[in-house]
Amino acid sequence: MKRLLSLCLTLSLLAVACGFLMPQPTPVSPIPPTAPPQTPSLPPPSSPRAAFRDGLVQADQSILDGLQGASEYQLTLTLAADLLRVDGQEEIHYTNIEEVSLDKIELRLFPNLLGGEMTVSNVRVDDTSVAPEFGLNNSLLIVPLNPPLEPGQSTTLSMDFRVTIPSTVDQGNYGVLAYAEDVLALAHAYPMVAVYNEEGWNAEVPPPSGDVTFSDMAFFTVTVRAPKGLVLVAVGREASRQVEGDQQVVTYEAGPVRDFYLAASPAYEVISRQVGETTVNFYAPHGLRSGAQAGLNVAVRALEDFSTRYAPYPYTELDLVATPTLALGIEYPGMIAIAERIVDPNHSYLEGTVAHEVGHQWFYNLVGSDQLDHPWLDESLTQFVTLEYFFDEYGSQGYQGFRESLTSRWDQINDEAIPIGLPVASYSDQEYSAIVYGRGPLFFEALKNRMGGEAFDSFLRDYTVSYSWSIATPDGLKTLAERHCNCDLTPLFEEWVTP
Ligand SMILES: [Zn+2]
Repeated sequence: MKRLLSLCLTLSLLAVACGFLMPQPTPVSPIPPTAPPQTPSLPPPSSPRAAFRDGLVQADQSILDGLQGASEYQLTLTLAADLLRVDGQEEIHYTNIEEVSLDKIELRLFPNLLGGEMTVSNVRVDDTSVAPEFGLNNSLLIVPLNPPLEPGQSTTLSMDFRVTIPSTVDQGNYGVLAYAEDVLALAHAYPMVAVYNEEGWNAEVPPPSGDVTFSDMAFFTVTVRAPKGLVLVAVGREASRQVEGDQQVVTYEAGPVRDFYLAASPAYEVISRQVGETTVNFYAPHGLRSGAQAGLNVAVRALEDFSTRYAPYPYTELDLVATPTLALGIEYPGMIAIAERIVDPNHSYLEGTVAHEVGHQWFYNLVGSDQLDHPWLDESLTQFVTLEYFFDEYGSQGYQGFRESLTSRWDQINDEAIPIGLPVASYSDQEYSAIVYGRGPLFFEALKNRMGGEAFDSFLRDYTVSYSWSIATPDGLKTLAERHCNCDLTPLFEEWVTP
């Protein structure tokens, strides 16, 4: 991973952002959407979704009438005074939206893969204690359902959990889960329901070079108890705040989102800009203020650009936070962590990193994908939309500048024509960087050249809208592109994407 990190830091001429461990206009379409069918006759959500309305821009509030059966998380997170431990309670209202009965629900315990430790206790299904099993290096919690949960039925899982947080940032955790240098970063710090799809329960130990999570849209109500001197930043909208002695108790409403993330520091100051219905915030210590201002400006421009090109940014808030992460930037729903070391107006990586991570708000969060099996659907496409950002901001010179960073990545493996469409686990660390972050975006450029600019732009808008709040697939992307160009793209996909 060390080698990978240095690759990411040294390869690009312009800034190139990474995902996690990879240090690393909406017209109505005449083409029918390809979103997966909803299971009929699902029970209504267990809690009113009206609470989530204020977190969504008006154009996206209608999603609250959809996503039937999406999981609803109620979390309480109590931060210890030394910020090295979180005690949590979790309740999940889970509905079986599959076509088969389920005799178990699988959840991920990611802190056990990120240098921390997560234990669970008192696991119950509808208030009955059950004995769970564990797997995948303790990163998988298997909760038995007896009797099985039939299609359309709902159940409530509940459990207590404790997370021990590393106090150092290293290659074992990249600082995604750590309290270090006065900053608490709390990624994936709750038992998270895995995705159930055609593979069944979809869980694996993530290869070190790629992203960790694969998750469906869900609704989160999270109450955080923390020392009151901390500035808290979290996914979602702050719904309430109280001070109790030396503690603050803050409740966040977030949804639909794919994950919950929280960052905190006593040193954070915030600067903000309003863009339409969305407030964009950058949280950083005072000493990084000019870098935060520069980063905020990029985030605003990228948000406006991608909202015009693909689909409106869906939330009323976008928070960027400076953290000591070893990655350059990391995407979360409605939140972005940016490495403190590049929060500097003169740092050549700042603009590309911020634009890339803002791009992930469309391609990772709004349009989900299996980040472990199909990393090109989020990382390669996000690199490509960053390329489009540089064109929109700086014209062909900006485009060529960022494009050179892509070709120089691919050059690292002598432009070997390794398919871009492989799972993360099929690449070496060096290949992953070169192919998924270098050759991958060049495929989308080749696709645009093959389809023609107008058809391609129309396709990418349609793709974004059709798969919003859902999970996209490689076949779905190809089929939709072929409909827009009325052409056979199989030869092009065989040349670039699939073996
Ligand atoms: Zn990325």
